[in-house]
Amino acid sequence: MKYAFNLEWNELSEELREAKIREYILAGDKRDCEECDGVGEIPTAMERGDIKTSKPCSHCSGTGRVNPDPDDLHQQEEAEEDIRIHFPIYF
Ligand SMILES: [Zn+2]
Repeated sequence: MKYAFNLEWNELSEELREAKIREYILAGDKRDCEECDGVGEIPTAMERGDIKTSKPCSHCSGTGRVNPDPDDLHQQEEAEEDIRIHFPIYF
């Protein structure tokens, strides 16, 4: 008898895999901001008379963390790799 959870990840339809990848990314934790490497600040060139050497990162509002983005190709690849390794636990 063949059970659904015995399917290989690669045997799933592309639509289903994409949907699962989106789900997985959206359910994930916040990620380090790629603009500032999770620091929350962007270094700026020091100007004469200006002691400020960094400014808050506008991408993550200075928190260093951003919400997961299911449209980010890199995150998609990461998520798919994770799912593939642990498949079929996420079903
Ligand atoms: Zn940032």
